[in-house]
Amino acid sequence: MATPLLGQMMAAPLLISSLLTHAARHHGDTEIVSRRVEGDIHRYTWRDAEQRARQLAQALRRLGVSDGERVGTLAWNGYRHLELYYAVSGMGSVVHTVNPRLFPEQIAYIVNHAEDRFVAFDINFLPLVETIAPQCPGVQGWIAMTDRAHLPASDLPLLCYEDLIAAEDGDFAWPSMDENAASGLCYTSGTTGNPKGVLYSHRSTVLHAFGASLPDAMCMSARDAVLPVVPMFHVNAWGLPYSSALTGAKLVFPGKDLDGKSLYELFEAEGVTFSAGVPTVWLGLLTYVKSIGGRFSTLERTVIGGSACPPAMLQSFEKDYGVRVIHAWGMSEMSPLGTLCHLRKHHRDLPEAEQQHILEKQGTAIYGVDLKIVGPDGEALPWDGKAFGDLYARGPWVLDRYFRADASPLVDGWFPTGDVATIDPEGYVQITDRSKDVIKSGGEWISSIDVENVAMAHPEIHEAACIAIRHPKWEERPLLVVVRKPGSTLTREDVLAFYQGRVVKWWIPDDVVFVDEIPHTATGKMLKLKLREKFRDFEVST
Ligand code: ADP
Repeated sequence: MATPLLGQMMAAPLLISSLLTHAARHHGDTEIVSRRVEGDIHRYTWRDAEQRARQLAQALRRLGVSDGERVGTLAWNGYRHLELYYAVSGMGSVVHTVNPRLFPEQIAYIVNHAEDRFVAFDINFLPLVETIAPQCPGVQGWIAMTDRAHLPASDLPLLCYEDLIAAEDGDFAWPSMDENAASGLCYTSGTTGNPKGVLYSHRSTVLHAFGASLPDAMCMSARDAVLPVVPMFHVNAWGLPYSSALTGAKLVFPGKDLDGKSLYELFEAEGVTFSAGVPTVWLGLLTYVKSIGGRFSTLERTVIGGSACPPAMLQSFEKDYGVRVIHAWGMSEMSPLGTLCHLRKHHRDLPEAEQQHILEKQGTAIYGVDLKIVGPDGEALPWDGKAFGDLYARGPWVLDRYFRADASPLVDGWFPTGDVATIDPEGYVQITDRSKDVIKSGGEWISSIDVENVAMAHPEIHEAACIAIRHPKWEERPLLVVVRKPGSTLTREDVLAFYQGRVVKWWIPDDVVFVDEIPHTATGKMLKLKLREKFRDFEVST
């Protein structure tokens, strides 16, 4: 260990409360607009948010919530959820965002595993709360996020959010604490086994917010109006509630209505410049905008991630609407941002098709994230854009161990992401698959994402999933599961013909099946596990 001369700068801890106080003090008049579950539009400012967060912290203290204790939320994106984010973390407790789209049994498991003392919920989740409450004896109170006038009738003794706030004067100072203190908890949806908790710290959250705001990341500024479509229960809405405070951006919260029409109206009415979400929601939005012949008058760019952005979607945003797509990769265990895709200066001289090809990748690592790909024996693979292997990550906002787990998942200090990727000589990462989704055909790997992307470029295909089916000779072969667009009469042969010349021959699916709907996970990703079960005994048609 070196014994350096210590610097003589202030040892100010990186605390989440400082993001809010910064926004309130230096961008106090900037608006936060929410579509409420009560049905109306609510507006106030960063200054108001900070005042009410202090009142909420006082109220939670009065209820007995102490340092390090968890407060759960079951809520859409809205200003009260934002207040909970800042009040709970800021006072030294841990905000635990629970995904309300999970099955009730899973939610009860998560609430109990986290040992939530209180759970705050949007009133439309009352039936869910009433279902799980008997299974969650550790929860001392359920806080309905509404005012007295909208408080629903229930056999549960509900606490009223607005009453709690109204009873306090806001005379509360955000405490100082160790920047490594836990601030937030989020469970991964866990397609196998029980969900696992990722426990963020103040330090990891603030550093992530810095990194996320950078020009070659989300490029955020005080000139932005940010609409997070990605829910605040999905890895902290990718950090946007924090990076918006850090940069002093306007926030626009869509509440529970994530259909194309509702989103589009809010984008236009509030002058939204920047948004972020998973591909599935953009499918809905683009379909709607196309159907009304609409345009985006203020939207400049959008981050698409959580699963691979189909190139056809990227092109539609850019070409049809002039909206820049920033393809991004990350995961709950990485707070979530790992890579984002932007062109470099010298790429501007390349032909358009080559630029497009780069933009379709998941991008390069932001400062704070280090990456490597490794082969089957754990050896590091070259960054040549061809070799693909297991992707490992490390850095100050990458998970060290899961909440209440003994063993660390790290391998030599690196976190195995469970994704398979290539990295090119310039550091651009391309995710070819989740390791469990990759199709192993005759000793070679087929990227299910690449196969899906071809299908998604077909004008009559709404959504497509590529999964492995068993094959006597090749071990596994690709099967394409397709949802046609309304009115389409597309056949198996049409789809297979579309693949000719677009991928190497042996990547062409062995068969195509049409379904009405592809199942999705609670975070909007295609649930391939379900499809693999459904087509386990599938026989290829000849
Ligand atoms: P889960 O879906 O397991 O709850 P996350 O929401 O953290 O957890 O998802 C992380 C995973 O999503 C990544 O490991 C990766 O497989 C996938 N993913 C995220 N972004 C992308 C992307 N741009 N392209 C392909 N896959 C992605």
